[in-house]
Amino acid sequence: MSIDPILLLFPPGWIYTTGGPNLALPLLKGFLEVKGIETYLIDLNIGLSNYFNLKISDDEIANACEIPSLENLNKPYYISQEQMSGIAKPFNAIWDIQLGFHYEGCSFSSSDDIKRFSELSSPFDNFYEEKLLASVEKLNPSIIGISGCAPAQLLSTFQIIRLLRRKGYSGKIILGGNLITRLEKSFIKDWVFELIDGAVLFQGEVTLTSIYFALQEGRELDSVPNLIWKRNGKIVENKIEYLTPKDFGRPMYENLSFNSYWGINYIPVLGSRGCYYGKCTFCAIPYAYGNNGFLGNDNPISVYDDMVSGYELTGINKYKFMEEALHPAILKKLSDKILSENFDCEFEGYARFDNFWKDENFLKRVAKAGLRKVYLGLELITSGKRGLLNKSDSDITLEMLKKFSDAGIKTHIFTLFGYPGTGIDEAIKTIEFVLKHQHLIDTLDIFPFYYAKHTTVPFVIPIIDSAKDWAIEYDYNPMMEGVLRNEEVTILCERLEDVIWNERPEWLHPLYRMCSPWSTVHEFV
Ligand code: SF4
Repeated sequence: MSIDPILLLFPPGWIYTTGGPNLALPLLKGFLEVKGIETYLIDLNIGLSNYFNLKISDDEIANACEIPSLENLNKPYYISQEQMSGIAKPFNAIWDIQLGFHYEGCSFSSSDDIKRFSELSSPFDNFYEEKLLASVEKLNPSIIGISGCAPAQLLSTFQIIRLLRRKGYSGKIILGGNLITRLEKSFIKDWVFELIDGAVLFQGEVTLTSIYFALQEGRELDSVPNLIWKRNGKIVENKIEYLTPKDFGRPMYENLSFNSYWGINYIPVLGSRGCYYGKCTFCAIPYAYGNNGFLGNDNPISVYDDMVSGYELTGINKYKFMEEALHPAILKKLSDKILSENFDCEFEGYARFDNFWKDENFLKRVAKAGLRKVYLGLELITSGKRGLLNKSDSDITLEMLKKFSDAGIKTHIFTLFGYPGTGIDEAIKTIEFVLKHQHLIDTLDIFPFYYAKHTTVPFVIPIIDSAKDWAIEYDYNPMMEGVLRNEEVTILCERLEDVIWNERPEWLHPLYRMCSPWSTVHEFV
């Protein structure tokens, strides 16, 4: 017996200045379709942008980036922002380009707030009725899966679920994604499981497949891995199984509105799952992959095939690698394949300051293949205290930045200030360093240290507040003299950001980032 298809939703609340869709849905679709399960995707986040006609045009971005002063960059950005604010205002709410939609007084860290505020009407109700409910009626999905990664998506997720249930949808509703995985046990609430049928931890490919076939065969869900669900009125947690490289599927990009994402559009791809290092003490970014944040490398030839099939479908030959750190083995073989096939493309990705980047021949080859920009976690310039972060990377930052620049590869620098045991001096020296060598840097972020759930950081104690049960970041109390408090770190970062806004506004500005990695901007400027 065959049953109706799976519909996967990406809810509103994700940042709009990305240039491409989130990769979770294409990965799930690719895996499920190969198992013979018809799967449809709806990116409701970009759907809303299209519905309200919010997008900043490529011409506006190009014009603003010609002379990227703060005034020029702000102008088109705030036209869209004001439009969004005007839509949210009658609902006593804020809708931010980067942070999503929320009602005044609603904290995404509080399950009580999400429960209460998700019952309110929103400016998106008509959109959901016209676009989402029409699709549900047409497709009649047996399962609706909702995958989110940003805190603001929790609110819209529950508004969508309430609407679906109100309108009589009686199929299975399954939630998953990075945020649900990081919330894990704290996500278990009676009211949540009155609305949904299951929550998936870690990668959802095998879980969704198993649910689908269990339904088809009329079986219970006991053997479905990574699932939290309700059995005989009691919420239970099934066994955890991590995905292995032999199970990695190929992303399928059908159903997504490429060319409607803001900025120069790219296709998201994945060469490895997670971070091959994974030991920085402050970092929980790769946690949701499972297996301590790293599942392994993919086959570079398969990744190349993903790039080509994405291009054939969309006409886009720009790619963003979504793994937390580009792996040299993948990059080398992928670049060889791109060059041997004469495939014309550009790509960017996250990277560590690891020694393989010192190899000039390697750099030349990956640049020739199309590597245009790397996003590097510097955090702090080398000092006696940087070792506290346990980054274990190279300490020849300047030499590497020069080599990237010589190879024509742009760099983004992530900085992190206020990590316990590091202080104002290290932060100021880091800012002095980047400004002194600003010709080697394209963009930069300043992050204040926060205590991330699933990490263990010395010299501080996280403050676990029961009213913030859905928090994934905690305030903390110093346990050692000299450790900066939350408020001090916030002020430090604001002051140093002010310096950068004055000196190099484009480094921090989201508008500049929407085009800076790609050569196309020079063509249409
Ligand atoms: S900070 Fe970067 S290198 Fe360190 S564990 Fe996180 S993702 Fe990996």
